Amino acid sequence: MLISLIVPCYNEEESLPILYEALCDVRKAESSTDRCFEFIFVNDGSRDKTAEKIKELAANDKSVKYVFFSRNFGKEAAMYAGMQKAKGDYVAILDADMQDPPSLLPEMIRVLDSGEYDVVAARRVTRKGEPKIRSFFARCFYKLINRMCDVEIADGARDFRLMKREVVDAILSLSERQRFSKGIFAWVGFRTKWVEHENVERVAGETKWSFWKLFRYAIDGIVAFTTAPLRLATYCGFFFAFAGFVYLIYYFIRAIILRIYNEVPGYPSLLCFILFIGGLILMCLGILGEYIGRTYIESKARPIYIPSDESKD
Ligand code: UDP
Ligand code: MG
Repeated sequence: MLISLIVPCYNEEESLPILYEALCDVRKAESSTDRCFEFIFVNDGSRDKTAEKIKELAANDKSVKYVFFSRNFGKEAAMYAGMQKAKGDYVAILDADMQDPPSLLPEMIRVLDSGEYDVVAARRVTRKGEPKIRSFFARCFYKLINRMCDVEIADGARDFRLMKREVVDAILSLSERQRFSKGIFAWVGFRTKWVEHENVERVAGETKWSFWKLFRYAIDGIVAFTTAPLRLATYCGFFFAFAGFVYLIYYFIRAIILRIYNEVPGYPSLLCFILFIGGLILMCLGILGEYIGRTYIESKARPIYIPSDESKD
């Protein structure tokens, strides 16, 4: 039985050797059984010596395979490329920085072996070592998306998971360009077991995620998995139409019963209403724009990534 381990790498020259050692330990621990391993490194257009490091590993170890990208396409694309290349009956995805502890793999393999589950996914129960403000926004994001979305996206879920072949095929069949894997994993379903671990800080290098990159990723996730924000415009429209109607009746009655016709004050409130509703209209247009823009990009049907000619089997 073959197990594929996929590692997306972007500027990971320092972490790679450490990770490779850890993966070899896993391989050694599992060598008594009839299992083989393949390690698939996806070099996502790194600017440091990651490419050389990977080639060096491949030269000394036949089970190391790799895909190189022509530029940086992002982790989502790297995971997709890895899954396309993986031939294993079980396929795992893990980060290069050891934040997805490879030492959990044997336990995860046991779980799939038992036949009760199709996916074992890791989830961190703490966010120790992460900036407080980032954890706060992350929590808000998960609350928001789960309220709007039909599928449950687990808070703290990482991309670290071990999957059976059929799950990988299901994920590959979702060939959208703007990939939000946390959503895709939840969407394809299957029987999932969660293993929990403490947050681990990366061994070397630094995270590629700035706050704004995460923020954009969050918006992408929401737009990709629910159309609920579009409904917001409809609800607001109903609300303001109703409020306007009530206001109209109020003035009508005032004119008939109290005979107040030409009242001049009210300029500030008028201005407030105009500004507020103008803002609301712009916001709704913006939301519409988000969806239309994504439709436009999907309709171009560009490939998810472009391999460079260095890639090898
Ligand atoms: N990564 C990638 N392409 C990118 C950014 C990141 O392949 O454009 C890889 C990176 O090398 C690492 C994993 O994705 O293996 C997670 O990245 P990182 O550790 O920066 O994210 P964090 O753990 O902070 O969420
Ligand atoms: Mg990391």
